[in-house]
Amino acid sequence: MPKLHELTAQETYQKIVNNEASALECVQAVFERIHKVEDNINSYVTLTEKEAIAQAKKVDNKISEGKPVGKLAGVSIAVKDAICTKDILTTCSSRMLKNFVPPYDAEVIKRIKKEDGILIGKTNMDEFAMGSSTETSYFGPTHNPWGMSRVPGGSSGGSAACIATDEAILALGTDTGGSIRCPASYCSIVGLKPTYGLVSRYGLIAYANSLEQIGPMAKNVYDCALFLTILAGHDSKDATSVNTSPKDYTECLKNNVEGFKIGVPKEFFGGGTSKAVERQIWGGIHKLEELGATYEETSLPTLEESLATYYIVAMSEASSNLARYDGLRYGYRVEKDEGDWATVYAQDRKEGFGAEVRRRIILGTYALSTGYYNKYYLKALKIRTLIRKDFEEAFKKFDIIVGPTMPFPPFKIGEKIEDPLALYMSDVDTVSANLAGLPAISVPCGFTEGLPVGMQIMASHLREDLMLQAAYTFEQNTDYGNKKPAH
Ligand code: GLN
Repeated sequence: MPKLHELTAQETYQKIVNNEASALECVQAVFERIHKVEDNINSYVTLTEKEAIAQAKKVDNKISEGKPVGKLAGVSIAVKDAICTKDILTTCSSRMLKNFVPPYDAEVIKRIKKEDGILIGKTNMDEFAMGSSTETSYFGPTHNPWGMSRVPGGSSGGSAACIATDEAILALGTDTGGSIRCPASYCSIVGLKPTYGLVSRYGLIAYANSLEQIGPMAKNVYDCALFLTILAGHDSKDATSVNTSPKDYTECLKNNVEGFKIGVPKEFFGGGTSKAVERQIWGGIHKLEELGATYEETSLPTLEESLATYYIVAMSEASSNLARYDGLRYGYRVEKDEGDWATVYAQDRKEGFGAEVRRRIILGTYALSTGYYNKYYLKALKIRTLIRKDFEEAFKKFDIIVGPTMPFPPFKIGEKIEDPLALYMSDVDTVSANLAGLPAISVPCGFTEGLPVGMQIMASHLREDLMLQAAYTFEQNTDYGNKKPAH
């Protein structure tokens, strides 16, 4: 019998509505687990135990009074610290926001609360979501439960690690260039980046708005589909929100890929891809073939340019978005704030931001400045259009596109952090989905020397159904996702 903290969201809900466990017991079990492993993992920046217990009691009261409860009743949910939570510290893992307590909830938080989900804490991340390893956090790195000296991926590293260690049942991540899928792959869990506009970003602290999405991270595909069902939907407070009719994504979870046409772009297996990852992913593709799908190797030539394009767009938007942190209205302020406005502004930002954030603000400002705008930013936008067109063509022929999530297995903490370009290279397979606004999911696809490998499945805009069906079928016919780290 699995212990309460080991359950999925679906199982937790069942237990609670069948009166086999109370919401309080479920939440307490998760906190017991957190207190046991958290010192070694560092998944969380903030824990909200008191509030969570109070919330769980409310759910139990509803049940004892015979009132209906929401689909996430008693489910412990961790939230990336880039998402605003009313009256709860929201730091973006930055010194700049280390005291920031938002006066309002992000739309996704409102949706979770409406379904009786229990918010248990805020998770560690790369500072302002800039990174792929959770090493740029002001609060120290998160460790990968599959290899404690290794990174959990990033930037939603805390959200992935807490799912892998059963320190939460569900988690929210954000994905600007891979930050849900990368850590999902490195921690052997499921992470889904929705179509651009499907999930409201109201209340998300912006890094690069034209790329990012909030999305679900979970122990299996069913939970991911369930969570997406709750998160997705139109929100008039987000100008980029797509007006779609509500959909139950769990309904597309059929264990069948017969007739599915899979495209495998050769650009996803470029020079930087490790042989071990390549082997596992091809094993995954052949598994799907065995289950009734057909695949074809193809080429999306513009993918070669996706990394450079992504970093120009992301840094440019970041330089503009982060200009608001002046230390005056809110944010970190130096103790000795002497001198004119520009001096104080510069001092606050120098001390408030870490090295990677400052690097990106400087590079982004450079790419947007007169004389360089046409050469870099505008050029990147044009290539972005070509990348989108390449995918549009591909999806006329294929239902899904499959490849590795990450080109190599989780690396050692400290191994790449001094070499930003080497770190940027790890995003080579994830950024194109963001540039094109496409949905993509990472599912466990085996191990190499004990370290997880994730397979990425992409689909056309708003075809989360196809992507989830393929991911579900793969999961049901393999046992990679059932393995737990020894920790
Ligand atoms: N690693 C990428 C970056 O540093 C993606 C980050 C993200 O998706 N937030 O920008």
